[in-house]
Amino acid sequence: MTRRVGRAFLLNHVSLRQLDDAQIHLSAPSANSSVEPDEETPTASAPQVVLVRKVIHVDMDAFYASVEQRDNPSLRGKPVVVGGLPEQRGVVATASYEAREFGVHSAMPSRTAFKKCPHAVFLRPRFEVYRAVSEQIREIFDRYSELVEPLSLDEAYLDVTVNKKSMPSATLVAREIRAAILQETGLTASAGVSINKFLAKTASGINKPDGLYLIAPDRAESFVEALPIEKFHGIGAVTAEKMRSLGIHNGGELRSWSESDLIKKFGKAGSYYYQIARARDDRAVVSNRVRKSVGAEESFAEDLNDSESMHKALVEIAETVARRLEKAGAAGRTLTLKVKYGDYQQITRSRTVTWSICKIDDILNIATDLLSVTEVSTRSVRLLGITLSNLDEDDDSSDAGGVVQLTLDLAGR
Ligand SMILES: [Mg+2]
Repeated sequence: MTRRVGRAFLLNHVSLRQLDDAQIHLSAPSANSSVEPDEETPTASAPQVVLVRKVIHVDMDAFYASVEQRDNPSLRGKPVVVGGLPEQRGVVATASYEAREFGVHSAMPSRTAFKKCPHAVFLRPRFEVYRAVSEQIREIFDRYSELVEPLSLDEAYLDVTVNKKSMPSATLVAREIRAAILQETGLTASAGVSINKFLAKTASGINKPDGLYLIAPDRAESFVEALPIEKFHGIGAVTAEKMRSLGIHNGGELRSWSESDLIKKFGKAGSYYYQIARARDDRAVVSNRVRKSVGAEESFAEDLNDSESMHKALVEIAETVARRLEKAGAAGRTLTLKVKYGDYQQITRSRTVTWSICKIDDILNIATDLLSVTEVSTRSVRLLGITLSNLDEDDDSSDAGGVVQLTLDLAGR
């Protein structure tokens, strides 16, 4: 029995628990727009010509805050904000869902978070605990795939095209992983399942928290077409604002732009935007990293004199660094902030942590902390830069990735 599942179904954020990703095995081109809802034998009847990758993005829900609520029951059901304390110059690393209801979100200055939600419990991060949980979930991921690419302590891509349990359904793999995480850590994770990193990552945000979402290949384009621009993974708040000012509000409108025009407006990132507007993303899930450092800097037409404009600049730079880190599949343990004052004197401040930094909120949090130990409150600033070094490098796998896997997959069937 096949059941027609229209685009409206997918876009209405209905749970896909009953659905499966039979469509991820691209069957004959003549296949109609249907999904096999048969979860026990997901691939029993579908033609098994695998033409596409199966990628899962797993993302822990409000990770740092959830760990705090798990370890301290009195915090459960309460707004919890982990990050800089309001009286310091830090930013929010993670806000619990209760705090998000008051408009508190990651990368927001803690002072602003306090104004929005004064009764929230503000906590400094306990990275050693988060790192231990992160290792637990990594160990769960490793049970399913050789190709695990962590993006941060609480997020990873898995290529499960070929997986260690020979499970044909990526959705089923995602479901098992979520169940194992809950059972073994007491925490919930959300997962997105699709044919590439961009779609999997976008999907994982849709049924958050504690959700699972599949974007099947034959719906990828229509899904992207209707997606609001700010929901695109890889398009940050600053870029989204710029796009809206250019009349781009969703994937369909983004798609109407030529690649050269996008590059003209957005630099090299324009090529990526051109691809994702077409639901394409060729980046392989890679577990090895090679670069020595990844960074970005910005010099200002006019010197910056106030903390607000410096914060705004740092957000933009952190966004670029996060994007470059992800593109490189890298994460670093040392963050270096570079400040050039109005008189051209240049200084750097660095911090090395025991975990891997790659997310914008972590980058911003540390960079903001480092900025507070410079003389920016009394001196003007001509340039700011952020570099991540001491990058994670795994030498235990080749980067041939998906190509090899697809060959094996085809040969194995
Ligand atoms: Mg998360």
